[in-house]
Amino acid sequence: MCGEPFKDKQTYHTVLLTGEPRPVRYDFCSSCWQRETASGLLQNPQVISYWKGTYIIPPKPTEAIERNTAELLLKKLATTDDPNSHAVVYILALMLERKKIIKLKKRAYINGKTTLIYEHKETGESYTITEPTLTPDQIHIVHASVTKLLEQEIGSQTA
Ligand SMILES: [Zn+2]
Repeated sequence: MCGEPFKDKQTYHTVLLTGEPRPVRYDFCSSCWQRETASGLLQNPQVISYWKGTYIIPPKPTEAIERNTAELLLKKLATTDDPNSHAVVYILALMLERKKIIKLKKRAYINGKTTLIYEHKETGESYTITEPTLTPDQIHIVHASVTKLLEQEIGSQTA
């Protein structure tokens, strides 16, 4: 065995040999496999099973990155008093609520504004968010800009 990590969509060969306490599995790349079969591996009576497969590299956890970034942004923006970020914070909260990261604890009407109190399900942190008055069209626009903002943040993290 060469020990090279498998590449995406690479064919691999697996044999299962008898062993104690449980069968032992060996994975080979094609060239190592040819060498092993040439030296009679499959004739070995210990072989229980053999199969061939295609190795697929697991996809990157983009979903997790997006979620963490949304959380970080919410944390950062929720503490600012900038009315311009109210809509962004609100959309971020909706996104995280949909992903079941935070939940709405309370809705209150304070100083003529609807205030939403969200709580982080794991950390218990709470976020006070002013509900903006937005038409569905405006929500759509803010949502698009938040998506862009997230992409930029993710880009700057991975750059
Ligand atoms: Zn190999």
